[in-house]
Amino acid sequence: MSPRGWALLALAGLALALVVTVALLIPWHRPPAPRADQLAALRDLPGDEVARGREFRSALRPGGYAALVVGLLIALALGLTPLGGRLVELVGRPFGGNWVAQAVLGGLAVVLVADLVTLPFAAWRQAVLTRYGLSTNGWGGWTVDLLKSYAVSAVIGAVALLGFYTVVRLSPRWWWAFGAAGAAGLVVLLSFVLPVLVEPVFNRFTPMEQGPLRTELMAMAARDGVPVRDVLVADASRRTRAVNAYVSGIGPTRRVVVYDTLLREAPPEEVTAVVAHELGHARDRDVTVGTLTGALGAAAAVVALYLIGSWAPLLRLAGVDSVAQPRAFPLLVALVTVVGLVTAPVQALISRRVEARADAHALTLTGDPAAFEAMQRRLAGVNLADPDPPRWEYLYSATHPSTVERMAAARAYAREAGR
Ligand SMILES: [Zn+2]
Repeated sequence: MSPRGWALLALAGLALALVVTVALLIPWHRPPAPRADQLAALRDLPGDEVARGREFRSALRPGGYAALVVGLLIALALGLTPLGGRLVELVGRPFGGNWVAQAVLGGLAVVLVADLVTLPFAAWRQAVLTRYGLSTNGWGGWTVDLLKSYAVSAVIGAVALLGFYTVVRLSPRWWWAFGAAGAAGLVVLLSFVLPVLVEPVFNRFTPMEQGPLRTELMAMAARDGVPVRDVLVADASRRTRAVNAYVSGIGPTRRVVVYDTLLREAPPEEVTAVVAHELGHARDRDVTVGTLTGALGAAAAVVALYLIGSWAPLLRLAGVDSVAQPRAFPLLVALVTVVGLVTAPVQALISRRVEARADAHALTLTGDPAAFEAMQRRLAGVNLADPDPPRWEYLYSATHPSTVERMAAARAYAREAGR
């Protein structure tokens, strides 16, 4: 069988593994709370707060979608015309046009151009956040964050590009197989190291200070059977007023992180509800499952890029002979961008299901639906959320159930528990 035949077989296998993983490990059986309950929850929210959240989200919307469209257009312009290939060549030329310079510097240049083109929209977003009082870091802090994120992407990108094109050179016929394994490995590696190496670039993390709240949270984690070494507090207040918490890392790097803003804004029982939600993610191994699906998806993407990228009309458009050339990198970026936009609703749906399960876990673990609902109201109020966003936007991009869904879920739990 030819490499192409094997690639088709590998892609089928990876796609099957991905579908089985998603079908078995994502909680599909949990339907959202009835719409009537959601509408009742919406009526209970203060009208001016709902209006302000909606106004804020409308203010963000034009810039957000313009960035998506412009990002797509620039990716297509660079990938489906010889423009991108020329850019790669141009950047590699001062270094004698050797393949390392083309692969690494040329590749990073393509990504940077796409970033710079959408930079005005990122600035627009920051301006809106500042206008609504959500952002606290000022333009100086914003710029520093931006440069840090460029630097982090450049380091990770350079490693990935160098690794990828080295494999391509070493194994011109089978690079897609090694590339797929490498991409999957990189996803797994990043899950372990991001919390330890990258998150500290942007925030300072300190163990939550000793006191009744910390004792309560650690006791709850122990009761839940989730080994948590510590609850960390992130100094999120340096850039935002928004409140949040998350769990990241796997195994020894797993941590529950709460924003300092949350500790400042919310009473202990609401912080407990938030941490109970995060423990739900840890208990159900959501980070591990996310890493596994991410790794399978990355591997499948590399094989798919090899197969689609050998399609002659695409290569002609990009002005390259083979998808394995560094000059064809913009074509890969264009394909990945399109796939990302097309699969966004699926990723959002999966995320919402996982989040709803963590909510259910929080309700069972704390047995305190009132605190859970109060916490949801506070999250929506402080973060200027639209508690009941437009349906199309919810379906395309919402990673969490809406505020009214989460409130309705708490009420449904209270009804059942009271029975
Ligand atoms: Zn969550």
